[in-house]
Amino acid sequence: MDLFEYQGKQYFARFGIPVSAGGVADTVDEAVVQADAAGYPVVVKAQVQVGGRGKAGGIKLANDADEVRLHAGNILGMDIRGHVVRRLWIEHASDISREYYASFTLDRAAKKYLAMVSAKGGVEIEAVAEEDPTAIARLHIDPSVGFSEADARTLVNEAGLDEEARSGAVQVLQDLYRCYVEGDADLVEVNPLILTPDGRVHALDAKVTLDDNASFRHPEWDGFRDIDELDERERLAKSKGLQYVGLDGYVGIIANGAGLAMSTCDVVNQVGGSPANFLDIGGGANAEVMANALEVINSDSNVRAIFINIFGGITRGEEVANGIATALQRVSIGSPMVIRLDGTNAEEGRAILKTVESDRVISSPTMLAAARKAVELAGTGSGSSGAKGAAK
Ligand code: GDP
Ligand code: MN
Repeated sequence: MDLFEYQGKQYFARFGIPVSAGGVADTVDEAVVQADAAGYPVVVKAQVQVGGRGKAGGIKLANDADEVRLHAGNILGMDIRGHVVRRLWIEHASDISREYYASFTLDRAAKKYLAMVSAKGGVEIEAVAEEDPTAIARLHIDPSVGFSEADARTLVNEAGLDEEARSGAVQVLQDLYRCYVEGDADLVEVNPLILTPDGRVHALDAKVTLDDNASFRHPEWDGFRDIDELDERERLAKSKGLQYVGLDGYVGIIANGAGLAMSTCDVVNQVGGSPANFLDIGGGANAEVMANALEVINSDSNVRAIFINIFGGITRGEEVANGIATALQRVSIGSPMVIRLDGTNAEEGRAILKTVESDRVISSPTMLAAARKAVELAGTGSGSSGAKGAAK
């Protein structure tokens, strides 16, 4: 799992590696709030998992709130080599005397860790490796022996870091090694690692790849996954406060309650279909929630039929049915839909649904029959489903 810069810096901080104070922002207004908190001048930084953000215009210094607005507005939504910027990291700007490079990674061929340090930081290390390979000091590390302070000193000296940066860099390298090993990373890279005019050595950028094989012992990594792995549909659902998980199939599912939503996915699979999603609208199946849910499902181009499966409890059947009817007026739905409504006041609810029924909006009293109908309407072409759909 690759971390965003701001997550990498959080990880660094845990191991005592000095990073600047800052905060994330998803909007221009949030960016100003974070900048005010960090203290001017600040750097506005695009959070995308691709290098060279600086060159692409994704990193800008701002001296006041107006400049933050300008840069945040420009950078949010920017496309940096195929990565759209959705989040910014705003940190207090550092004064830079020198820019260095430091990393630990795994050299699989050598079956050892590889440390690299260079006095030529702030540019892509691949470019340095090509133009001036001697500018990179390298050290292979036997994992069973580890990385000593003396090793760190050797690297720093070989790389030719400035005198006043050496002790700070030796400390950062040791902390970075702990971050790499104890933090179960496959890669930790600091570019640039800077020397400030007042003699501090400080991480200005962070690239961290975590070793997924170790995730079982890092429950805290779940927090890193959030925005990273959300697809468009999940982002939309999250913005509407819905419990939604995108799946690969073509039957859109809306249910109330996590258990029912899961059973609904199961029954769709059972009759030969494939769910496009898990969506639990929870207790309040009112028009607003239903319209939001339908909008999210509708935005999924893989969906070919929708299965709404509601069991009225505290929310009564007629409220659910009214919610669906109103939602249908608000959202124009691209796929046929099957509604199974049961539970409290189901009869009243079904009577209301009659008013909106058509050959594209069908009510079906049982979960199994409704699932079959939805799969049939999706026209899967996957053999058995059509036959099963007919055998009611
Ligand atoms: P990258 O281009 O994606 O690697 O992004 P970086 O975080 O490495 O930033 C690129 C460059 O922006 C750095 O090499 C610095 O020259 C500059 N930069 C980033 N943060 C600061 C800062 O706090 N102060 C100053 N003066 N420059 C910065
Ligand atoms: Mn960088």
